Amino acid sequence: MEKGSDFLVIGSGIAGLTFALSVANHGTVRIVTKRDKYESNTKYAQGGIASVFSEDDSFEEHINDTITAGAGLCHKDVVNFVVKEGPERIRDLIRWGVEFTADANKNIALAREGGHSRHRILHVKDVTGSIVEEALMQQIDAHPNIRMYEDHIAVDLITVKKLVKQEIERDRSLGAYVLDKANGTVHSFLAKKTLIATGGAGKAYLYTSNPDIATGDGIAMAYRAGAKVANMEFFQFHPTCLFHPKAKSFLISEALRGEGAELCRISGETFMEKYHKMKSLAPRDIVARAIDNEMKTNGE
Ligand SMILES: Cc1cc2nc3c(=O)[nH]c(=O)nc-3n(C[C@H](O)[C@H](O)[C@H](O)COP(=O)(O)OP(=O)(O)OC[C@H]3O[C@@H](n4cnc5c(N)ncnc54)[C@H](O)[C@@H]3O)c2cc1C
Repeated sequence: MEKGSDFLVIGSGIAGLTFALSVANHGTVRIVTKRDKYESNTKYAQGGIASVFSEDDSFEEHINDTITAGAGLCHKDVVNFVVKEGPERIRDLIRWGVEFTADANKNIALAREGGHSRHRILHVKDVTGSIVEEALMQQIDAHPNIRMYEDHIAVDLITVKKLVKQEIERDRSLGAYVLDKANGTVHSFLAKKTLIATGGAGKAYLYTSNPDIATGDGIAMAYRAGAKVANMEFFQFHPTCLFHPKAKSFLISEALRGEGAELCRISGETFMEKYHKMKSLAPRDIVARAIDNEMKTNGE
């Protein structure tokens, strides 16, 4: 059995890395990640990060846009929290070395995306995610308390209940069983605290912009350990990908529409005006349903 650490982080995307950096001054951290350390949804994110950064924008407007785009399903307290925390978390990224694209006056350049009534997308050209991942990784590599294990797949959580093999009133995680792909051995990674930061499960769908790692492992592990899982219908999706029957789909970024690109039929005729007042910049669920409807109606 391996010697334990204070923190075990499963996953090396933006969630796992920022958590690791936030706790590393309080104890030892081990990060396990199932492929190379950069492979994640984070690496592929393009458009950027929405946050209130201009004087003609406000928390109220960002909150309202989010609640509207959420079609009444958002938890208002969560929206409030995320929107209001945004600028400070962006400043963390800047402190950690992310240089967001600036405009001619050297202010942060803000783009616009679907569902947003204001320009509020901070970005690094159209490679925001890989630059963020790279900047965080430099901090991780330099931190003496953090150790990264690549090609290590967490297969299940270790819990008190699993060890004593009987019902207990309140179960607790003690770490995770982790498969070292290089030699096929499963190790016990013990930790006082374990963070599951394994991202989504986009690969449950036949067509997705998500990379192969997005298989929902963490959700399954948490579920098996007795955690409640909810909102499983809300997986990130993109309405516009390049489709090729023999190649992987890749994202045609919404930022294109933010700059004025329009969705149209094969004939060149636009159609989004029939579905929403924001036309091609309508929220993603509306755009996706409109495209689906057009394709089915017109057989394109
Ligand atoms: C093409 C694309 C474009 C996007 N564009 C944007 C955008 O413009 N703006 C925006 O806000 N969001 C965007 N997103 C969404 C954004 O990338 C994600 O919401 C975000 O990166 C999720 O971060 P995460 O750390 O939770 O998960 P991820 O970045 O997916 O990281 C999960 C990590 O867990 C690891 N892992 C998984 N299972 C295991 C296991 N069993 N054991 C060990 N490790 C495991 C993975 O290898 C990976 O390192 C985009 C996503 C894609 C795919």
